[in-house]
Amino acid sequence: MSVLDSFIAGLPKAELHVHHVGSASPRIVAELAARHPDSPVPTDPEALADFFTFRDFAHFIEVYLSVVDLIRDAQDVRLLTYEVARDMARQNIRYAELTVTPYSSTRRGIPDVAFVEAIEDARKAAEAELGVVLRWCFDIPGEAGLEAAEETARIACELKPEGLVSFGLGGPEIGVPRPQFKPYFDRAIAAGLHSVPHAGETTGPQTIWDALTELRAERVGHGTSATQDPALLAHLAEHRIPLEVCPTSNLATRAVTDLDAHPLKEMVAAGVLVTINSDDPPMFGTDLNREYGVAARLLDLDARGVAELAKNAVEASFMDEAGKRALRAEIDEYTAAWRG
Ligand SMILES: [Zn+2]
Repeated sequence: MSVLDSFIAGLPKAELHVHHVGSASPRIVAELAARHPDSPVPTDPEALADFFTFRDFAHFIEVYLSVVDLIRDAQDVRLLTYEVARDMARQNIRYAELTVTPYSSTRRGIPDVAFVEAIEDARKAAEAELGVVLRWCFDIPGEAGLEAAEETARIACELKPEGLVSFGLGGPEIGVPRPQFKPYFDRAIAAGLHSVPHAGETTGPQTIWDALTELRAERVGHGTSATQDPALLAHLAEHRIPLEVCPTSNLATRAVTDLDAHPLKEMVAAGVLVTINSDDPPMFGTDLNREYGVAARLLDLDARGVAELAKNAVEASFMDEAGKRALRAEIDEYTAAWRG
């Protein structure tokens, strides 16, 4: 491990773009598979490691769906959520806005109230026992259409759990135009939630404009194609609309051809507030610490530069001011004490 990698590993961090099911590590999947012996997912650690090795995007979807299939009742939901927080604590992640897709579970027969109780119970336990503060972004799986949008908006607005801060939109962008989801975002915003759709990951800058104008995005998931439109970059910078950048995920999904071609540097040069995130970390063979390492290389940052990047995530988060102040202070203290 390089000196900078050690700094990153110990650095207190916030993560803003990371998916609930997509964070299930082989360790967690083994525990879930053991609860459901009829599942085709291997429980043997070696076979499971092989199953998890990223091959291509189709294989990622296969892994993702087999993990979805292992989440069959509220205890599975609780186990997954708490264990994801444990993996975060090991990386010194102090605060995370976890993207949760309630529709995937409710359509499989887990009652909405039981689902929400399970994540909330895990959230409270993770904060008390692991020191990880979790908040939720309930997202619409775009590929499931307006029925999923209706169900997600209903659960968000009717049940509105204490940890819920935002409303999102994920899934494929091609063939799934953003504007059709406007009424659901309007409802969520009216209920006091922040708008954080994915946009511009696999399609051009117009999708990002749509997310801003139609869905009133306050932060943008990925926004990779923003650099194709200077006026859009200027708009993001001027209005301090942060981008949730996930470098390794962008490579895995072929949103970028190789990491050196990632537009992160152009985003920063344009004055856009960028945050570094891991998206679906174990499924893309990464974690947040590795993503900070990638960003440090792309942006040519030293420890202080990495600490500033970590503070971007604090600023772009939906934490209250006291929470932001405390985490910034923790980052500063750690950095000042660092003798790399
Ligand atoms: Zn994502």
